[in-house]
Amino acid sequence: MTEYPAIASPARTQAILNRYRLSAKKSLGQNFLVDLNILGNIVEAAEITSDDDVIEIGPGIGGLTEQLAKAAHKVLGFEIDENLLPVLQETLAPYDNIEIINEDILKANLPQVVKERFTGHHPLKVVANLPYYITTPIVMNLLAGELEFDAIVVMMQKEVAERLTAVPSTKPYGSLSAIVQEMNNVEISFIVPRTAFIPQPNVDSAIVKLTQKTAKETVPFDEKRFAGFVRGCFMHQRKTLWNNLLGFFGKTDEAKGAITKVLTEVQIDPGARSEQLTIDQFVQLANAFHDNGILN
Ligand code: SAM
Repeated sequence: MTEYPAIASPARTQAILNRYRLSAKKSLGQNFLVDLNILGNIVEAAEITSDDDVIEIGPGIGGLTEQLAKAAHKVLGFEIDENLLPVLQETLAPYDNIEIINEDILKANLPQVVKERFTGHHPLKVVANLPYYITTPIVMNLLAGELEFDAIVVMMQKEVAERLTAVPSTKPYGSLSAIVQEMNNVEISFIVPRTAFIPQPNVDSAIVKLTQKTAKETVPFDEKRFAGFVRGCFMHQRKTLWNNLLGFFGKTDEAKGAITKVLTEVQIDPGARSEQLTIDQFVQLANAFHDNGILN
């Protein structure tokens, strides 16, 4: 059998693109990784072992998929671009532990597909070089869904990674940081320069690792309602917490009374700004509004 160089080696990637007359589709966020060290570091950051089942979003021409397949038990890839299917069929032919599904990850019934394609006897991880135009909806869907992942290790635009990992009172800290960090440990594993891709994007990227928090001191009364509440608190960045809460609950006397009572109870200054609040403070606030009957 002919031994091909790795799919993600720059020469092989270019040869594949030429042979299939493919030009990367910007509209689908197609930037192919062509740095084998970085691919190795992604597999390492995800701590993939031969016991792991892996979901990959957007296999592209199969560069990351190949490295995952070498390390994992099984890889299931969701690729929206049907033009890439014959390419993947050829590039990934040597591997018998890969399945590709031609589906939009945002429309897929993930629990159903996972039940059909995996045995359920292996740890489940998500590893992907995400299409940047839908990074946030993909991550939020994965986190809000009913599946439990051992780890989610994904590449995204560096600025989005900084928002996900931001701490209070820093510029990138916002609703996304608070909502995601409330349930998950989030860390930037490493930064990836734009030169690692064909074609080169005009931003740098970062690998972000998310794992579910196990021991939490305070728990929101309801995760979905908590997320909506936090978004409400950050609705108008330049306004005070008081004004954002009025915007969220309405400017009635009843709402004003409840807000005053709750802020006193949890000892938060009405003149504070949402970006100064810790995640625990958001949880305390949401729970106190719930206990006072105005957040259900
Ligand atoms: N994994 C490859 C790599 O690392 O070189 C390609 C990554 S590229 C940044 C993103 C991939 O996601 C593309 O192959 C693109 O076609 C695919 N994609 C874009 N939107 C998608 C969606 N909604 N569902 C599934 N795949 C999608």
